[in-house]
Parts: sequence; C-alpha cells; structure tokens
Amino acid sequence: MKAPAFDYARPASLAEVFDLLDRHGDEAKLLAGGQTLMATLNMRLSQPGILIDITTLNEPALTGIRSDGATLSIGALVKHREIERSAPVAEQVPLLAQAVPHVAHIAIRNAGTFGGSVAFADPAAEYPACLVALDATIVLVSRAGERKVPARDFFKALYETDLQPGELVARGEFVAQKPGYRSVFMELARRHGDYAIVGVAANGKVAGGVLSDISLAYLGVGGIPVLARQAMAVLEGQAYSTELVGAAQRALANDLDPAADLYSSGATKMHLARVLTGRALAALAEGA
Ligand SMILES: Cc1cc2nc3c(=O)[nH]c(=O)nc-3n(C[C@H](O)[C@H](O)[C@H](O)COP(=O)(O)OP(=O)(O)OC[C@H]3O[C@@H](n4cnc5c(N)ncnc54)[C@H](O)[C@@H]3O)c2cc1C
Repeated sequence: MKAPAFDYARPASLAEVFDLLDRHGDEAKLLAGGQTLMATLNMRLSQPGILIDITTLNEPALTGIRSDGATLSIGALVKHREIERSAPVAEQVPLLAQAVPHVAHIAIRNAGTFGGSVAFADPAAEYPACLVALDATIVLVSRAGERKVPARDFFKALYETDLQPGELVARGEFVAQKPGYRSVFMELARRHGDYAIVGVAANGKVAGGVLSDISLAYLGVGGIPVLARQAMAVLEGQAYSTELVGAAQRALANDLDPAADLYSSGATKMHLARVLTGRALAALAEGA
C-alpha cells in the first residue's frame, strides 16, 4: 500500500516547528527517523495532513549526547546507532548500552532516534523500560519552554504518553551510574532484532552479595513498561540466593498481569518474565 497524500515541511528552527504545530494541530506529525512513522503511513494506520520533518533540525536542545559527570543527557534526534557506539553511555548508563543492540537491526538503528522511540512508546520497546528502571527524566519542549517529567509518570497507556499538544520530546536525562551499581538488560524475541516478547531492565546495588535499591522494569507485559515494585521490595537488603530469587519470581504475580499478544499467551509471558528475572538477578549478583 502507498501512504496517503500529505503536505511536507522541513523547519529550520524549533520556533518554526512550534509555528507549524500551532497552525496544523492534530493534522501534523513529526518525522524523526521515520522507522515507525513511514510504516504506519504506508499501512494507512496514520493519515496526517502534514509531516514536519525534524531530521535535520540543528538545535542543541534536541541533539547530542552530553555529560557533566553526574548526569548524562541524550537528545531526541540522536540515532540508536550513536547511542550504541557512545563511550559515555557505555560507562555512565550501561543499562541503555546493553539494551540498544536489541533495538531492531543496524539499518533501522542508523535512522531511528531516541526521541522517536520514547514518543512512540511501544510497550515492547527497549528504551522506555530502561528509562523507567533508571528513574530517568524525560525533558519535553514547547513554545512555553521546557517541562521535565519523570519517566515513571510519562508512559500513560498503550501508545499514550504525557506529551501535550505543541510539545516535543527534547531529550532524556540519566543519573550517571553510581559506584557499586550494576545493570542487566535481557529480552526474549522470536528473532534477534524483533520487538521483544518479554524483556527486563534491571539495575541496582550489589555489595557483598547483598542486593539493594534494585529496579526491575519489564517490557512486553502490558500497555506500558511495568515496574515490579512487589518483587523489588522482596529483594531489598537481602543476600542473593536461589530462595530469594524464587520469592521475587513469586511476587511478580502481584506486579505483572501480561495480556496475550499475537504469539504468546499471558501465562507464557508471565513464565518468561519469571525466567528472565532469575537470569537477570543471577547476572547482577555474579562477580559483584
Ligand atoms: C522492522 C522494525 C523493527 C523494529 N524493532 C524495534 C525494536 O525491537 N525495539 C524498538 O524499540 N524499536 C523497534 N523499531 C522501531 C524503531 O526503534 C524506531 O526507530 C522508533 O520506534 C521510532 O523512532 P523514529 O526516530 O524512527 O521515529 P518516527 O518513526 O519518525 O516517529 C515515530 C513517532 O514518534 C513521533 N516523534 C518522533 N520524534 C518525536 C519527538 N522528538 N517528539 C515528539 N514526537 C516525536 C512521530 O511523530 C511519530 O508519531 C523497529 C522498527 C522497524 C521498522
């Protein structure tokens, strides 16, 4: 199928983007990497009146990976591949560095952007779960200025976020990994590069075998990334052991209620989430 007819604009500044968004309202769609949008256009799942192409926008608010040592920020227009190759990301946000190779395939990672993935909010996407696990901040920008939203409040429902009319995702802000903290990202997919059936983003402190401040955020188990607060509470301050892992896996029954997708039942997803939890906790504890 071909995309429906649409107008096209390539603004040269954020001010021009805001003008276009004001003028066209719901009829406008931002085009970032196009890796999701072009497919939805071609399948006629989306029929915008105008595409606002921000791919070449050279605005510091939306570009670049920056770090002051304490906080690392990733601009919305940064491509997946740049994140994958970034030494500061590998060092300061290792969870994200582990997750990026699971985002689609290299050709898609060369074009797709951080902001596009965050804004699209696919429940099986890797970045949203990492942002939630790391309690990162999503910075939004509009004509009124910037607005910071904790990632844990940003994802509202299936493909629904806290983005308001006239706003763009500008960047994500991550606290740099603290000493003693470790990260593990794992997912199960039918083929490498496919969206995950289930995945887990795990982060936390391991000292002398004792786990603390552990975050477990799951992808592919609901409309949004799910933070497993009950399982996290079970782990807090406890020494790693197979019994502890079993208790956390059982506690997941209170955190997750996965719905079936085209390929897996809810029960299968729950089983896979438990398996991944066991593997992720073992990997967190290993060598610490
Ligand atoms: C075959 C295939 C496999 C894939 N597998 C995965 C996968 O395993 N994991 C995964 O996470 N992703 C996967 N993707 C999606 C890919 O990561 C996309 O790059 C990403 O979801 C969207 O980013 P984009 O820059 O291409 O955005 P676009 O496609 O340009 O835009 C997507 C949506 O976000 C909006 N948008 C874009 N930028 C902004 C912004 N800054 N502020 C507000 N709204 C914005 C657009 O208007 C549009 O509605 C896959 C894609 C394909 C084609």
